[in-house]
Amino acid sequence: MLFSTRTLLLALATTALGHVTSPRRGRCAQDDPSESNIAEMERMAEDARLHPMVRVNASNATLELDIYFHVISTGPSVAEGNLGNGTLMNQLNVINKDYAPAGIKYTLRNVTRTVNAAWYGVTMGSAAEMAMKKSLRRGTYRDINVYFARLSGGVLGWCTFPEVNPTAHMRTRDGCVVASQSLPGGIKPYNLGRTLTHELGHWHSLYHTFQGGCTATNDRVEDTPAERGPTYGCPKTNPDTCTGARFPGVDPIHNFMDYTDDICMNEFTPGQVTRMFQAFARMRGAARGGYYPQY
Ligand SMILES: [Zn+2]
Repeated sequence: MLFSTRTLLLALATTALGHVTSPRRGRCAQDDPSESNIAEMERMAEDARLHPMVRVNASNATLELDIYFHVISTGPSVAEGNLGNGTLMNQLNVINKDYAPAGIKYTLRNVTRTVNAAWYGVTMGSAAEMAMKKSLRRGTYRDINVYFARLSGGVLGWCTFPEVNPTAHMRTRDGCVVASQSLPGGIKPYNLGRTLTHELGHWHSLYHTFQGGCTATNDRVEDTPAERGPTYGCPKTNPDTCTGARFPGVDPIHNFMDYTDDICMNEFTPGQVTRMFQAFARMRGAARGGYYPQY
């Protein structure tokens, strides 16, 4: 989940279970991963350590995924939240460009447009979120649904993590909700379409690069340097908040899974790419064009 930095201190994040948690700072206040999700991340990290072929295969593999866009607004004009086809195509091009080095390609299958004031102001974990998704979601658990809405409280978006045995509720809720003003041409500094790039990383199972802070496990990906907390803006001097022999490397401020400005983000690590392919094979099933060995 993404928050804009300007208003995030006032925002209260609600988890998937409906609990109100303490205010979270940052671009994003993603759902807390479930216990089963964390356990699966641990198993995948162990697989990657034990089987170098996991990494090799992921680097040579491709995933071709179907994506569905749902535009929510209060009326037909752009001022009312509607998004033109050109803006949607620009957004699609951004995610395809950002994920091309990872071998992941998104094909837009359909666009729906819905006028609904309650859904336009949707909040995470709300009845409106489920009503919207029950009505609009298309495809299976391996297909991506993105809902563009105004959101509120400085929220820029949220996605669901994959689960090993998703319930019917999880399958309906699966997907990403993204602020309409974050698409290309939106409001600076989140105006290059990378809110969706970041959120899709969560859909593909990735945690924030600063998850866990300066700990050995941190974000459960071994080649993302540990980071004490999120980085904002785009610092000219790269911070290094976890130091010492246990924590090599400077903070990954250019990683898509940090909180920096759109213009500052430009990479996933090989370990994150491996994780996305592992997670897809184990939790979302085979994709068209995709090949990945099961362990
Ligand atoms: Zn996030």
